Amino acid sequence: MNRITTLLTTIILMGLFACSSKPDAKEANATTNPTTKKLKALIIDGQNNHGVFPLTTMLMSDYLKDSGLFTVDYARTAYTWQGPHYDQDALGVKAADAPILLEKYPLPTGQKTTVVEKPQPDPDFNPNFSDYDVVVSNNGWQAAAWPDATKTNFENYMKNGGGLVVIHAANNSFGDWDAYNKMIGLGGWGGRSAETGPYVYYNDAGERVDDPSEGPCGSHGPQQDYVMTTRSPEHPIMKGLPTKWLHVYDELYDRLRGPAENMTVLATAYSDVEKNGPPWDKKVVGTGRHEPLLMAIDFGKGRVFHSGMGHMGTAMECVGFMATFQRGAEWAATGKVTQAVPADFPTETKTSTRKWANRK
Ligand code: ZN
Repeated sequence: MNRITTLLTTIILMGLFACSSKPDAKEANATTNPTTKKLKALIIDGQNNHGVFPLTTMLMSDYLKDSGLFTVDYARTAYTWQGPHYDQDALGVKAADAPILLEKYPLPTGQKTTVVEKPQPDPDFNPNFSDYDVVVSNNGWQAAAWPDATKTNFENYMKNGGGLVVIHAANNSFGDWDAYNKMIGLGGWGGRSAETGPYVYYNDAGERVDDPSEGPCGSHGPQQDYVMTTRSPEHPIMKGLPTKWLHVYDELYDRLRGPAENMTVLATAYSDVEKNGPPWDKKVVGTGRHEPLLMAIDFGKGRVFHSGMGHMGTAMECVGFMATFQRGAEWAATGKVTQAVPADFPTETKTSTRKWANRK
């Protein structure tokens, strides 16, 4: 009996010790009320011109879990296409070795895919979206269209109050899918034109301009550090963030256009005429406009958080990317943000990064 009592006491004490140990600041929200059920997130990927996606999916998965708010599942297409963009310097792999990233950063499910050289539709891709509080798209330019039934399911999920987070080149995908363009507010490339919707930007007087002129959709200059400017400081995602903060070495998307219905611009960055001309076309220059890079969109009863940042894993290691992603995901899932702004959030003159703990 004594031994059992001692054992029980030890177990109880261990439990108490575990409970009374100082919770990680990032876990604070979840540990405040242990009965709170975690939110369910689904990350979708598989076809992205940013061949780095196996890494960035796992990085974003960790960010969601680190917030203490989410559990994470994954829906990857059976055919995976990894385009030419990945951080060769940081990853030490050559273009032809892109599939190695699938091995280096495998999904926890152990799912194996068929690597293809061109995007290819997956006729069986049909996640049960309604099981989730938020869906995060880590797709990219030229991702193959989903089956019609999947598109319909996703539209219904969103209309009925679903959540969506769109990261960087996910706003290049599906340019001919009208409902998707409405969900993301603005997009780049993907065949988008004046018919898709106006350019949206802020002028130097701080006014939003919706400009229906003809013209190409989507460009960016070489990667650079750039200042983000908050435009909606009272929005739950932005509340408490600095008015200006310096984002680390990333592409700065400009010339985005789209329906922009029910869209709140949360933050912009200035596309410098000289600094933000695309390297692939010397005739094109930066826009000289303040370009929307963080947006919140209502779609039916659903909510969308759109972040144009995140070209590479290194850009996602910016504490500003991380915190806005975590806050945006919570807002898309619940309409509220309970997370504190990290103490090491970047300032107007100083970038701030945290190396992703599981980078290999
Ligand atoms: Zn990019």
